[in-house]
Amino acid sequence: MSITSLDNTYVASTYGRFQVELDHGKGAKLFDTNGKEYIDMGTGIAVNVFGVCDNEWNSAVKAQLDKLAHTSNLYYTEPCAKLAELLCSKTGMKKVFFSNSGAEANECAIKTARRYSFNKYGEGRSTIVTLKQSFHGRTVTTLAATGQDSFHTEFGPFTEGFVYAEANNTAEAIRLIEENNACAIMMELVQGEGGVMKLDENFVTDIADYCNKNDVLLVIDEVQTGNGRTGSLYAFQQFGITPDIVTTAKGLGGGLPIGATMLGAKTENVLTPGSHGSTFGGNPVCCAGAYNIISRIDDKLLADVKAKSEYIFSELSGAKGIKTVSGMGLMVGLETEKDAKGIVTLCREKGVLVLTAKTKVRLLPPLNITAEELETAVNVIKECAK
Ligand SMILES: *Cc1c(COP(=O)(O)O)cnc(C)c1O
Repeated sequence: MSITSLDNTYVASTYGRFQVELDHGKGAKLFDTNGKEYIDMGTGIAVNVFGVCDNEWNSAVKAQLDKLAHTSNLYYTEPCAKLAELLCSKTGMKKVFFSNSGAEANECAIKTARRYSFNKYGEGRSTIVTLKQSFHGRTVTTLAATGQDSFHTEFGPFTEGFVYAEANNTAEAIRLIEENNACAIMMELVQGEGGVMKLDENFVTDIADYCNKNDVLLVIDEVQTGNGRTGSLYAFQQFGITPDIVTTAKGLGGGLPIGATMLGAKTENVLTPGSHGSTFGGNPVCCAGAYNIISRIDDKLLADVKAKSEYIFSELSGAKGIKTVSGMGLMVGLETEKDAKGIVTLCREKGVLVLTAKTKVRLLPPLNITAEELETAVNVIKECAK
């Protein structure tokens, strides 16, 4: 049987896969089992920060693999401790809880916010406000946190205690916090799955200010926006805010599964021994890969991300068939005249892999994509959007 028919027969049908069997790659280039070459403008959904088969990352991961692949969280290991220190020193956060995915990083944030409030104010202050069009994961609780009705059918009963505010409507968000006696507000600074929509800076700073004054925790979901994607290590650093909790995953491991919940001054000691945990959380191999990724996201790379972003925005804004260009850094959404799915197919036929987000075409290229590869990809996208 072919790979495709084996997969269709034995793998649960949760994905509408494209008719491509990917085999190997280097940097932004991917090759399928027929030897066809593609430029990757999706990075496994913002995961492969430095593309695939990156030499430095591969060496870091292999070196750790040859020392110790896994132990339990009953013991200390160097990669976990060093990664936590690196993340804290680069963000100003105080402590990190490691898990395996974005959904789990958000679960930990939700548990932390509720426990913080419970310890300080007792019962009845457990609601978390999230935004409409948000996406926070696929567990029963993070689906409940996701502010899209289409995610709230079929799998009920859902976890209680989430209410949804319109993005960029400060008055409504504050009204919902007060009416529900909320302990936290959780949001993405650029809504990814919801259509690559960057939040208004005034909305974000006003909410941050309100939260700070009223002891409502500010939780920023940087699962997709994090790890250099938007032109800073974490997007919150460009909004001039100090979140109480920051979650990340996707690009953090550079291709291995790891999630992180970063805790600020108010929340660093909320979780105590036994209150939370994960068998694989802080896995040495994943942490060694993540350490390599985070240590390489420096000012030079971030300036390069911004320059590439400006190139994409200037080439595609006003191009024939493209109505709007949204996003931040190398997280870009294109509102197109033609159906986005059709454009994805056309691009793929021409050797460029792009994604969708709602009705938009979404671009998430590797941060180290070469100028030449980017130019080729942008020209193909223009051609297909016409
Ligand atoms: C992808 C994503 C998640 C879920 O991450 P998983 O690793 O798939 O669990 C959560 N929040 C945001 C903003 C995401 O983009």
